[in-house]
Amino acid sequence: MKPINVRRQCAFVQATARIFLACLFLFAITSEVSCQNHGDSNQITAPDSVAAKLTQDSLKLVAHRLDSLKQIALNQYSLDSSFACLHPAALRGIVILLDAGHGGRQDGALYDSIAEKNVNLAVTFKLKARLELLGARVHMTRSDDSDLSLEARVAKSKRLKPDIFISVHANANRHTSIDGIETYYYGRRSSVLAATLLKSISTGLKENANWMKHELLYVLHHNIVPSTLVEIGYLSNSRTNKLLNTNGYQERVAESIAVGVFNYFQLKKPARGPLIKTSKAKPNRPKR
Ligand SMILES: [Zn+2]
Repeated sequence: MKPINVRRQCAFVQATARIFLACLFLFAITSEVSCQNHGDSNQITAPDSVAAKLTQDSLKLVAHRLDSLKQIALNQYSLDSSFACLHPAALRGIVILLDAGHGGRQDGALYDSIAEKNVNLAVTFKLKARLELLGARVHMTRSDDSDLSLEARVAKSKRLKPDIFISVHANANRHTSIDGIETYYYGRRSSVLAATLLKSISTGLKENANWMKHELLYVLHHNIVPSTLVEIGYLSNSRTNKLLNTNGYQERVAESIAVGVFNYFQLKKPARGPLIKTSKAKPNRPKR
């Protein structure tokens, strides 16, 4: 994608979102006046009450649709204000595999009816959009609520051979006061990626950077590319639980991870892709 095209795309999305929000505002005022007019009428006969009920139902349906559309517009608006718009093509040529933790029958952490698998997927989609704005080619291990084994996730990484692999998770602990951000890695090649993301996420969200740990987690241990697993907050903590279930906070989480990925690739020679083993054997001389 050319930089100029991305800027045009950003400007277009911004203009569309603004026009759409203006229309929503006008429609809301019109609906309000219409509702008030209905409220003033206190002489409703039997057929009129049926008509009024139908009108109320229609208005509820329209309001529901408007809520959905407003959400889409706000999502686009938020993406448009992303730092990624300022750095189009910064990650051109980079391939990234994102892994939304759990899925299907595996809820992951489950607190106050908020399932980790849904939060992970929502954040991963938002992260994908930002990384693509930065010019990266982004793949996902799952893009819906499907069951996916750890082996299948790693197998996809081995097939695709991306530059980096990021697994997105939310945490939980029986001590509900615990909160903060953690990242995990396995092997020296992945440590810088884990450190960079820990810093960007904790800074971006203004949360504690608890730790980055060397850990024998399957998706890290069996991976062949620099990989990290990020814990974006504790669902067992009531404050973070509420935040992680909001669109706005999920956008912030995605933004903070994207900043980390951007920073990682600004480093001098960041580790990327499968480790290429160099053979110590001398190359054969071509025979005459
Ligand atoms: Zn998890």
